[in-house]
Amino acid sequence: MSSAEAVVIGAGPAGLATAQQLRRAGLKPAIFDKADTVGAVWRRHYDRLHLHTPRSLSGLPGLPMPASYGRYPSRAQFVEYLESYAQAFALEPAFATPVRSVRRAGRGWRVETGEGSVETAIVVVATGWADFPHSPTWPGMEAFGGPILHSSAYRNAEPYAGKRVLVVGFGNSGAEIALDLCEAGAEPTLSVRSPVRVLPRDLFGLPILGFAVAQRFLPARIADAINAPIIRLAVGPLEPLGLEVAAKGPIRMIKEDGRVPVLDIGALAKIRDGRIAVRGGVARFGPHSVTFDDGVCEPFDAAILATGFKPDLRALLPDAAGALDADGRPLVSDRPTAEPGLFFVGAIASPTGQLRQIAIGAARVAEAAARRLREGRA
Ligand SMILES: Cc1cc2nc3c(=O)[nH]c(=O)nc-3n(C[C@H](O)[C@H](O)[C@H](O)COP(=O)(O)OP(=O)(O)OC[C@H]3O[C@@H](n4cnc5c(N)ncnc54)[C@H](O)[C@@H]3O)c2cc1C
Repeated sequence: MSSAEAVVIGAGPAGLATAQQLRRAGLKPAIFDKADTVGAVWRRHYDRLHLHTPRSLSGLPGLPMPASYGRYPSRAQFVEYLESYAQAFALEPAFATPVRSVRRAGRGWRVETGEGSVETAIVVVATGWADFPHSPTWPGMEAFGGPILHSSAYRNAEPYAGKRVLVVGFGNSGAEIALDLCEAGAEPTLSVRSPVRVLPRDLFGLPILGFAVAQRFLPARIADAINAPIIRLAVGPLEPLGLEVAAKGPIRMIKEDGRVPVLDIGALAKIRDGRIAVRGGVARFGPHSVTFDDGVCEPFDAAILATGFKPDLRALLPDAAGALDADGRPLVSDRPTAEPGLFFVGAIASPTGQLRQIAIGAARVAEAAARRLREGRA
Protein backbone atom coordinates (compact mmCIF):
# COMPACT_ATOMS: atom_id res chain seq x y z
CA MET A 1 0.00 0.00 0.00
CA SER A 2 1.30 3.49 -0.84
CA SER A 3 0.18 6.93 0.33
CA ALA A 4 -0.49 10.36 -1.19
CA GLU A 5 -1.38 13.75 0.27
CA ALA A 6 -4.39 13.90 -2.02
CA VAL A 7 -5.93 11.74 -4.74
CA VAL A 8 -7.79 13.14 -7.72
CA ILE A 9 -9.94 10.63 -9.62
CA GLY A 10 -10.34 11.63 -13.27
CA ALA A 11 -8.16 13.53 -15.75
CA GLY A 12 -10.92 15.39 -17.55
CA PRO A 13 -11.35 19.17 -17.15
CA ALA A 14 -12.45 18.89 -13.49
CA GLY A 15 -9.64 16.55 -12.44
CA LEU A 16 -6.92 18.52 -14.23
CA ALA A 17 -8.15 21.87 -12.89
CA THR A 18 -8.32 20.54 -9.34
CA ALA A 19 -4.90 18.89 -9.52
CA GLN A 20 -3.42 22.18 -10.76
CA GLN A 21 -5.04 24.10 -7.92
CA LEU A 22 -3.95 21.53 -5.32
CA ARG A 23 -0.38 21.89 -6.61
CA ARG A 24 -0.73 25.64 -6.35
CA ALA A 25 -1.81 25.21 -2.72
CA GLY A 26 1.39 23.27 -2.08
CA LEU A 27 0.00 19.71 -2.21
CA LYS A 28 1.21 16.83 -4.30
CA PRO A 29 -1.85 15.02 -5.60
CA ALA A 30 -1.84 11.64 -7.29
CA ILE A 31 -4.14 11.68 -10.32
CA PHE A 32 -5.75 8.49 -11.59
CA ASP A 33 -7.66 8.00 -14.82
CA LYS A 34 -8.92 4.75 -16.21
CA ALA A 35 -8.36 5.98 -19.78
CA ASP A 36 -4.92 6.31 -21.34
CA THR A 37 -5.02 10.04 -22.14
CA VAL A 38 -6.29 13.27 -20.62
CA GLY A 39 -9.75 14.44 -21.72
CA ALA A 40 -10.76 10.91 -22.76
CA VAL A 41 -14.46 11.72 -22.75
CA TRP A 42 -14.03 14.76 -25.00
CA ARG A 43 -12.14 12.62 -27.51
CA ARG A 44 -15.22 10.42 -27.81
CA HIS A 45 -17.85 13.15 -28.25
CA TYR A 46 -19.50 13.57 -31.66
CA ASP A 47 -17.36 15.06 -34.41
CA ARG A 48 -19.13 18.38 -34.99
CA LEU A 49 -19.25 19.37 -31.31
CA HIS A 50 -18.04 22.84 -30.39
CA LEU A 51 -18.24 24.30 -26.91
CA HIS A 52 -21.64 25.90 -26.36
CA THR A 53 -20.02 28.19 -23.83
CA PRO A 54 -17.54 30.84 -25.02
CA ARG A 55 -13.80 30.28 -24.82
CA SER A 56 -13.38 33.28 -22.54
CA LEU A 57 -15.68 31.69 -19.92
CA SER A 58 -14.62 28.06 -20.35
CA GLY A 59 -10.91 28.03 -19.51
CA LEU A 60 -9.38 26.20 -16.58
CA PRO A 61 -7.45 28.07 -13.85
CA GLY A 62 -4.06 29.49 -14.73
CA LEU A 63 -4.11 29.00 -18.53
CA PRO A 64 -6.56 30.70 -20.90
CA MET A 65 -7.45 28.99 -24.15
CA PRO A 66 -5.62 30.52 -27.15
CA ALA A 67 -7.52 33.33 -28.92
CA SER A 68 -6.91 31.47 -32.20
CA TYR A 69 -9.57 28.95 -31.09
CA GLY A 70 -12.28 31.53 -31.80
CA ARG A 71 -15.36 32.20 -29.71
CA TYR A 72 -16.59 28.59 -29.54
CA PRO A 73 -13.66 26.13 -29.69
CA SER A 74 -14.10 22.84 -31.48
CA ARG A 75 -13.96 19.51 -29.71
CA ALA A 76 -10.48 18.89 -31.17
CA GLN A 77 -9.26 22.28 -29.96
CA PHE A 78 -10.63 21.63 -26.50
CA VAL A 79 -8.84 18.27 -26.37
CA GLU A 80 -5.63 20.00 -27.51
CA TYR A 81 -6.15 22.57 -24.75
CA LEU A 82 -6.52 19.86 -22.11
CA GLU A 83 -3.29 18.24 -23.33
CA SER A 84 -1.43 21.55 -23.20
CA TYR A 85 -2.91 22.28 -19.77
CA ALA A 86 -1.56 19.01 -18.33
CA GLN A 87 1.80 19.70 -19.94
CA ALA A 88 2.02 23.34 -18.79
CA PHE A 89 1.56 22.34 -15.15
CA ALA A 90 3.44 19.04 -15.38
CA LEU A 91 0.34 17.13 -14.30
CA GLU A 92 1.14 13.49 -14.84
CA PRO A 93 -1.89 11.30 -14.27
CA ALA A 94 -1.44 7.58 -13.80
CA PHE A 95 -3.34 6.36 -16.86
CA ALA A 96 -5.11 3.04 -17.35
CA THR A 97 -5.70 3.09 -13.60
CA PRO A 98 -9.39 2.73 -12.83
CA VAL A 99 -10.38 3.48 -9.26
CA ARG A 100 -12.59 0.62 -8.13
CA SER A 101 -13.65 2.01 -4.75
CA VAL A 102 -12.88 4.61 -2.12
CA ARG A 103 -13.25 3.34 1.46
CA ARG A 104 -12.94 4.99 4.85
CA ALA A 105 -9.60 4.32 6.54
CA GLY A 106 -9.32 5.98 9.95
CA ARG A 107 -9.54 9.77 9.47
CA GLY A 108 -8.72 9.41 5.78
CA TRP A 109 -9.54 7.24 2.79
CA ARG A 110 -8.21 4.17 1.05
CA VAL A 111 -8.40 4.39 -2.73
CA GLU A 112 -8.47 0.97 -4.41
CA THR A 113 -7.16 0.89 -7.95
CA GLY A 114 -6.50 -2.02 -10.27
CA GLU A 115 -2.83 -1.57 -9.31
CA GLY A 116 -3.17 -1.64 -5.51
CA SER A 117 -4.36 0.81 -2.89
CA VAL A 118 -3.38 4.30 -1.78
CA GLU A 119 -4.00 5.87 1.64
CA THR A 120 -4.83 9.56 1.58
CA ALA A 121 -6.48 12.31 3.62
CA ILE A 122 -8.11 13.97 0.60
CA VAL A 123 -10.07 12.44 -2.25
CA VAL A 124 -11.46 14.54 -5.09
CA VAL A 125 -13.96 12.73 -7.28
CA ALA A 126 -13.88 14.28 -10.77
CA THR A 127 -15.26 11.36 -12.70
CA GLY A 128 -17.95 13.22 -14.69
CA TRP A 129 -21.11 11.48 -15.92
CA ALA A 130 -19.97 9.67 -19.04
CA ASP A 131 -20.10 6.23 -17.42
CA PHE A 132 -23.78 6.58 -16.69
CA PRO A 133 -25.71 7.06 -19.94
CA HIS A 134 -29.42 6.86 -19.24
CA SER A 135 -31.28 4.77 -21.85
CA PRO A 136 -34.98 4.35 -21.15
CA THR A 137 -36.72 1.24 -22.45
CA TRP A 138 -39.97 0.94 -24.39
CA PRO A 139 -42.04 -2.06 -25.43
CA GLY A 140 -40.95 -3.51 -28.76
CA MET A 141 -37.42 -2.09 -28.68
CA GLU A 142 -35.71 -5.47 -28.88
CA ALA A 143 -37.53 -6.28 -32.15
CA PHE A 144 -36.75 -2.90 -33.81
CA GLY A 145 -34.97 -3.57 -37.11
CA GLY A 146 -32.46 -0.69 -37.00
CA PRO A 147 -29.80 0.56 -34.62
CA ILE A 148 -30.78 2.18 -31.31
CA LEU A 149 -27.92 4.00 -29.63
CA HIS A 150 -27.36 6.47 -26.82
CA SER A 151 -26.20 9.93 -27.90
CA SER A 152 -22.83 9.30 -26.22
CA ALA A 153 -22.17 6.62 -28.87
CA TYR A 154 -23.12 8.90 -31.81
CA ARG A 155 -20.12 10.14 -33.82
CA ASN A 156 -21.46 11.65 -37.05
CA ALA A 157 -24.34 11.49 -39.52
CA GLU A 158 -22.55 9.44 -42.18
CA PRO A 159 -24.35 6.13 -41.54
CA TYR A 160 -27.74 7.87 -41.55
CA ALA A 161 -27.79 9.80 -44.86
CA GLY A 162 -31.17 9.31 -46.51
CA LYS A 163 -32.55 7.52 -43.43
CA ARG A 164 -35.43 8.34 -41.10
CA VAL A 165 -33.90 8.82 -37.69
CA LEU A 166 -35.74 9.34 -34.43
CA VAL A 167 -33.83 11.46 -31.92
CA VAL A 168 -35.36 11.02 -28.47
CA GLY A 169 -34.88 14.03 -26.18
CA PHE A 170 -34.49 17.74 -26.85
CA GLY A 171 -31.50 18.74 -24.75
CA ASN A 172 -28.31 20.21 -26.17
CA SER A 173 -27.12 16.85 -27.54
CA GLY A 174 -30.50 15.94 -29.05
CA ALA A 175 -30.87 19.34 -30.71
CA GLU A 176 -27.36 19.28 -32.15
CA ILE A 177 -27.54 15.66 -33.34
CA ALA A 178 -30.87 16.37 -35.07
CA LEU A 179 -29.22 19.36 -36.77
CA ASP A 180 -26.21 17.26 -37.76
CA LEU A 181 -28.47 14.59 -39.26
CA CYS A 182 -30.52 17.18 -41.11
CA GLU A 183 -27.44 18.82 -42.63
CA ALA A 184 -26.17 15.42 -43.78
CA GLY A 185 -29.33 14.56 -45.69
CA ALA A 186 -31.07 12.37 -43.12
CA GLU A 187 -34.70 12.86 -42.07
CA PRO A 188 -34.62 13.52 -38.32
CA THR A 189 -37.64 13.58 -36.02
CA LEU A 190 -37.28 14.83 -32.46
CA SER A 191 -39.35 13.12 -29.79
CA VAL A 192 -40.01 15.75 -27.11
CA ARG A 193 -41.94 14.51 -24.09
CA SER A 194 -41.53 17.34 -21.59
CA PRO A 195 -41.79 21.12 -21.70
CA VAL A 196 -38.55 22.78 -22.81
CA ARG A 197 -36.52 25.96 -22.49
CA VAL A 198 -34.64 27.18 -25.51
CA LEU A 199 -32.19 30.09 -25.49
CA PRO A 200 -30.21 31.58 -28.34
CA ARG A 201 -26.50 30.83 -27.90
CA ASP A 202 -25.79 34.50 -28.72
CA LEU A 203 -27.88 37.55 -27.94
CA PHE A 204 -27.21 40.99 -29.50
CA GLY A 205 -24.05 39.44 -30.97
CA LEU A 206 -22.71 38.40 -27.55
CA PRO A 207 -22.64 34.97 -25.86
CA ILE A 208 -25.77 34.58 -23.74
CA LEU A 209 -23.65 33.03 -20.99
CA GLY A 210 -22.08 36.46 -20.42
CA PHE A 211 -25.52 37.80 -19.45
CA ALA A 212 -26.01 34.90 -17.01
CA VAL A 213 -22.64 35.64 -15.43
CA ALA A 214 -23.52 39.34 -15.06
CA GLN A 215 -26.78 38.35 -13.33
CA ARG A 216 -25.32 35.63 -11.13
CA PHE A 217 -26.03 37.43 -7.85
CA LEU A 218 -29.71 38.02 -8.69
CA PRO A 219 -32.28 35.58 -7.28
CA ALA A 220 -33.10 33.05 -10.04
CA ARG A 221 -36.78 33.99 -10.15
CA ILE A 222 -35.98 37.68 -10.67
CA ALA A 223 -33.29 37.08 -13.30
CA ASP A 224 -35.68 34.78 -15.19
CA ALA A 225 -38.46 37.39 -15.05
CA ILE A 226 -36.15 40.14 -16.37
CA ASN A 227 -34.89 37.95 -19.21
CA ALA A 228 -38.20 36.39 -20.28
CA PRO A 229 -39.41 39.05 -22.77
CA ILE A 230 -36.00 39.35 -24.48
CA ILE A 231 -35.64 35.58 -24.80
CA ARG A 232 -39.18 35.25 -26.13
CA LEU A 233 -38.38 37.85 -28.76
CA ALA A 234 -35.06 36.25 -29.70
CA VAL A 235 -36.30 32.66 -29.86
CA GLY A 236 -39.78 33.27 -31.24
CA PRO A 237 -42.92 31.35 -30.35
CA LEU A 238 -42.30 27.65 -29.68
CA GLU A 239 -45.89 26.40 -29.33
CA PRO A 240 -46.61 26.49 -33.09
CA LEU A 241 -43.57 24.20 -33.52
CA GLY A 242 -45.13 21.58 -31.26
CA LEU A 243 -42.92 22.47 -28.29
CA GLU A 244 -44.36 23.32 -24.88
CA VAL A 245 -42.49 25.98 -22.91
CA ALA A 246 -41.50 24.95 -19.36
CA ALA A 247 -43.16 26.88 -16.54
CA LYS A 248 -39.82 27.50 -14.83
CA GLY A 249 -37.39 29.98 -16.33
CA PRO A 250 -33.99 28.71 -17.50
CA ILE A 251 -32.03 29.76 -14.40
CA ARG A 252 -34.53 28.19 -11.98
CA MET A 253 -34.60 25.06 -14.15
CA ILE A 254 -30.83 24.63 -13.80
CA LYS A 255 -30.64 25.57 -10.13
CA GLU A 256 -33.69 23.67 -8.92
CA ASP A 257 -33.84 20.68 -11.26
CA GLY A 258 -30.27 20.42 -12.62
CA ARG A 259 -31.73 20.61 -16.16
CA VAL A 260 -29.74 22.64 -18.68
CA PRO A 261 -31.77 24.61 -21.29
CA VAL A 262 -31.07 24.17 -24.98
CA LEU A 263 -28.61 26.74 -26.30
CA ASP A 264 -29.84 26.79 -29.87
CA ILE A 265 -27.29 26.75 -32.66
CA GLY A 266 -29.66 26.16 -35.56
CA ALA A 267 -32.02 23.28 -34.78
CA LEU A 268 -34.95 25.63 -34.18
CA ALA A 269 -34.67 27.16 -37.66
CA LYS A 270 -34.72 23.65 -39.18
CA ILE A 271 -37.80 22.78 -37.10
CA ARG A 272 -39.44 25.96 -38.39
CA ASP A 273 -38.53 24.96 -41.99
CA GLY A 274 -40.08 21.55 -41.41
CA ARG A 275 -36.73 19.82 -42.00
CA ILE A 276 -36.66 18.50 -38.43
CA ALA A 277 -40.04 17.08 -37.38
CA VAL A 278 -41.24 17.26 -33.77
CA ARG A 279 -43.37 14.58 -32.12
CA GLY A 280 -44.37 13.80 -28.52
CA GLY A 281 -43.16 11.04 -26.21
CA VAL A 282 -42.47 7.52 -27.48
CA ALA A 283 -45.09 4.91 -26.55
CA ARG A 284 -43.57 1.82 -28.25
CA PHE A 285 -41.32 0.56 -31.00
CA GLY A 286 -42.45 -1.67 -33.89
CA PRO A 287 -40.06 -3.67 -36.11
CA HIS A 288 -39.61 -0.64 -38.42
CA SER A 289 -41.70 2.06 -36.75
CA VAL A 290 -42.34 4.02 -33.60
CA THR A 291 -45.73 4.85 -32.09
CA PHE A 292 -45.94 8.09 -30.16
CA ASP A 293 -48.06 8.88 -27.10
CA ASP A 294 -50.80 10.42 -29.28
CA GLY A 295 -51.18 7.10 -31.15
CA VAL A 296 -49.50 8.28 -34.37
CA CYS A 297 -47.20 5.60 -35.83
CA GLU A 298 -44.35 6.51 -38.20
CA PRO A 299 -41.62 4.53 -39.94
CA PHE A 300 -38.01 4.85 -38.71
CA ASP A 301 -34.67 3.27 -39.66
CA ALA A 302 -32.70 4.20 -36.52
CA ALA A 303 -33.12 5.82 -33.12
CA ILE A 304 -30.70 7.91 -31.11
CA LEU A 305 -31.45 8.31 -27.42
CA ALA A 306 -30.35 11.78 -26.33
CA THR A 307 -31.80 11.01 -22.94
CA GLY A 308 -29.00 12.20 -20.71
CA PHE A 309 -27.00 10.67 -17.90
CA LYS A 310 -27.84 9.37 -14.42
CA PRO A 311 -24.67 9.16 -12.38
CA ASP A 312 -24.72 6.74 -9.47
CA LEU A 313 -21.55 6.81 -7.33
CA ARG A 314 -22.66 4.35 -4.64
CA ALA A 315 -20.46 1.51 -5.94
CA LEU A 316 -17.40 3.79 -6.12
CA LEU A 317 -18.06 5.35 -2.71
CA PRO A 318 -19.61 2.67 -0.48
CA ASP A 319 -18.69 4.52 2.76
CA ALA A 320 -19.83 7.99 1.70
CA ALA A 321 -23.60 7.82 2.19
CA GLY A 322 -23.54 11.29 3.81
CA ALA A 323 -22.32 12.87 0.59
CA LEU A 324 -24.75 11.17 -1.81
CA ASP A 325 -28.49 11.31 -2.34
CA ALA A 326 -30.68 8.19 -2.47
CA ASP A 327 -29.81 7.68 -6.17
CA GLY A 328 -26.07 8.02 -5.63
CA ARG A 329 -25.67 11.58 -6.95
CA PRO A 330 -23.45 14.00 -5.05
CA LEU A 331 -25.46 16.23 -2.71
CA VAL A 332 -22.95 19.06 -3.00
CA SER A 333 -20.18 19.72 -5.47
CA ASP A 334 -17.29 22.19 -5.56
CA ARG A 335 -17.23 22.64 -1.78
CA PRO A 336 -16.71 20.49 1.35
CA THR A 337 -19.17 17.58 1.70
CA ALA A 338 -20.60 15.96 4.82
CA GLU A 339 -17.80 13.36 4.52
CA PRO A 340 -14.59 15.00 5.77
CA GLY A 341 -11.81 14.89 3.19
CA LEU A 342 -14.10 13.85 0.34
CA PHE A 343 -14.89 16.34 -2.44
CA PHE A 344 -16.60 16.41 -5.82
CA VAL A 345 -15.76 18.85 -8.59
CA GLY A 346 -18.00 19.50 -11.61
CA ALA A 347 -20.83 17.29 -10.42
CA ILE A 348 -23.72 19.76 -10.41
CA ALA A 349 -25.06 21.89 -13.32
CA SER A 350 -24.52 25.63 -13.16
CA PRO A 351 -26.40 28.49 -14.88
CA THR A 352 -23.09 30.14 -15.71
CA GLY A 353 -21.60 27.13 -17.53
CA GLN A 354 -20.20 23.85 -16.32
CA LEU A 355 -16.59 24.56 -17.28
CA ARG A 356 -16.65 27.96 -15.64
CA GLN A 357 -18.08 26.30 -12.54
CA ILE A 358 -15.35 23.65 -12.67
CA ALA A 359 -12.69 26.38 -12.58
CA ILE A 360 -14.37 27.97 -9.55
CA GLY A 361 -14.97 24.62 -7.84
CA ALA A 362 -11.39 23.45 -8.37
CA ALA A 363 -10.02 26.54 -6.61
CA ARG A 364 -12.50 26.27 -3.76
CA VAL A 365 -11.93 22.56 -3.20
CA ALA A 366 -8.13 22.91 -3.31
CA GLU A 367 -8.29 25.63 -0.69
CA ALA A 368 -10.57 23.54 1.58
CA ALA A 369 -8.35 20.48 1.12
CA ALA A 370 -5.18 22.41 1.98
CA ARG A 371 -6.90 23.84 5.08
CA ARG A 372 -7.99 20.38 6.20
CA LEU A 373 -4.45 19.05 5.84
CA ARG A 374 -2.97 22.00 7.76
CA GLU A 375 -5.49 21.52 10.57
CA GLY A 376 -4.77 17.78 10.63
CA ARG A 377 -1.05 18.45 11.05
CA ALA A 378 -1.50 21.13 13.73
C1 LIG B 1 -21.68 16.57 -25.32
C2 LIG B 1 -21.33 17.51 -24.19
C3 LIG B 1 -20.98 18.82 -24.46
C4 LIG B 1 -20.66 19.71 -23.41
N1 LIG B 1 -20.35 20.99 -23.72
C5 LIG B 1 -20.09 21.86 -22.71
C6 LIG B 1 -19.78 23.24 -23.00
O1 LIG B 1 -19.79 23.67 -24.15
N2 LIG B 1 -19.49 24.05 -21.96
C7 LIG B 1 -19.52 23.63 -20.67
O2 LIG B 1 -19.26 24.44 -19.77
N3 LIG B 1 -19.79 22.34 -20.36
C8 LIG B 1 -20.08 21.45 -21.35
N4 LIG B 1 -20.39 20.15 -21.04
C9 LIG B 1 -20.49 19.75 -19.62
C10 LIG B 1 -19.12 19.50 -18.91
O3 LIG B 1 -18.34 20.65 -18.92
C11 LIG B 1 -18.31 18.38 -19.56
O4 LIG B 1 -19.06 17.18 -19.46
C12 LIG B 1 -16.93 18.19 -18.89
O5 LIG B 1 -16.18 17.27 -19.64
C13 LIG B 1 -17.03 17.69 -17.47
O6 LIG B 1 -15.70 17.49 -17.02
P1 LIG B 1 -15.34 16.40 -15.93
O7 LIG B 1 -13.87 16.45 -15.78
O8 LIG B 1 -16.21 16.59 -14.76
O9 LIG B 1 -15.79 15.00 -16.58
P2 LIG B 1 -15.22 14.13 -17.87
O10 LIG B 1 -14.79 15.09 -18.92
O11 LIG B 1 -16.33 13.21 -18.12
O12 LIG B 1 -13.95 13.42 -17.26
C14 LIG B 1 -14.05 12.41 -16.29
C15 LIG B 1 -12.78 11.58 -16.32
O13 LIG B 1 -12.83 10.65 -15.23
C16 LIG B 1 -12.36 9.39 -15.67
N5 LIG B 1 -12.96 8.37 -14.79
C17 LIG B 1 -14.28 8.13 -14.61
N6 LIG B 1 -14.45 7.16 -13.69
C18 LIG B 1 -13.21 6.79 -13.28
C19 LIG B 1 -12.71 5.85 -12.33
N7 LIG B 1 -13.54 5.08 -11.60
N8 LIG B 1 -11.37 5.73 -12.16
C20 LIG B 1 -10.51 6.50 -12.88
N9 LIG B 1 -10.93 7.41 -13.80
C21 LIG B 1 -12.25 7.56 -13.97
C22 LIG B 1 -12.80 9.30 -17.12
O14 LIG B 1 -11.99 8.40 -17.86
C23 LIG B 1 -12.62 10.76 -17.59
O15 LIG B 1 -11.35 10.98 -18.13
C24 LIG B 1 -20.68 19.26 -22.06
C25 LIG B 1 -21.02 17.91 -21.80
C26 LIG B 1 -21.34 17.05 -22.84
C27 LIG B 1 -21.71 15.62 -22.51
